[in-house]
Amino acid sequence: RIVYLNGEWLPEGEAKVSIFDRGFLFADAIYEVTAVIGGKLIDYPGHAARLKRSLGELGITSPIDADSLLEVHRQIVARNNLGEGLIYMQISRGPADRDFAFPANPTPTITLFTQEKAILSNPKLETGISVITVPDLRWARRDIKTVQLLYPSMAKTEAMRQNAEDAWLVEDGFVTEASSANAHIVTKEGKLITRSLSTAILHGITRASILDLAHAAGVPTEERAFTPQEAKDAAEAFITSATSFVMPVTRIDGQPVGAGKPGPVTQRLRAAYIEDRCANAI
Ligand code: PMP
Repeated sequence: RIVYLNGEWLPEGEAKVSIFDRGFLFADAIYEVTAVIGGKLIDYPGHAARLKRSLGELGITSPIDADSLLEVHRQIVARNNLGEGLIYMQISRGPADRDFAFPANPTPTITLFTQEKAILSNPKLETGISVITVPDLRWARRDIKTVQLLYPSMAKTEAMRQNAEDAWLVEDGFVTEASSANAHIVTKEGKLITRSLSTAILHGITRASILDLAHAAGVPTEERAFTPQEAKDAAEAFITSATSFVMPVTRIDGQPVGAGKPGPVTQRLRAAYIEDRCANAI
């Protein structure tokens, strides 16, 4: 693969970052993941806007302007001949002598790489995925998309150990989100319920698109927290993320959700997302 590092295009084995980089020492870095379908970027404006917000919250100055960043995204797709998959982009505060306080004039590190992934024909779509519930032990600023992903990695690993595909995180009795996706349910009355935006969850770009598409399709929605029990009793459940789009959740803690197979509202929203977002890909 050809990767991008601080203005240079390099074979992946030649891209080197300092051991003093604050991304490495302090997880002092933010990232974005953008899906690519047919060589085009899905929901890119949303990802670019959230990147700006994450940088602002941490006081990291972007090392690249918005037009150039889009151009780098396009170029990395072309250079790697990427048809379907994802672009990972990370900006860290950069290298500095190890000190907890932010350095005065850091030079941020920006890197991008691509990964091929079957998004449209993911085999898990047929059955949906199983999730377990675990306590949400992450820090309290989950609205900032930092690379501080150790707890979500632990949660997902525990899910795999229990023969499930993912973990839903629970705080104060309510589901916050999945390890790397937003969590949603559909009630027996056909209403889409998803947690409202706050510092407790990442403001998912796919979540926002799905809410818009639900409104357009006449699916009633409500933004509020729900409990694991409410999810188990729901008609349908699903997760959303840039790299899974809409993925049905058919088991929670071993209990089937609704009919135990991907539900009609979930499938309709997934189809609407693919149709609309692929048509508007750039
Ligand atoms: N929540 C968390 C914790 C995530 O890591 C992600 C994806 N990185 C999401 C939600 C989904 O966000 P998006 O739809 O923007 O990919």
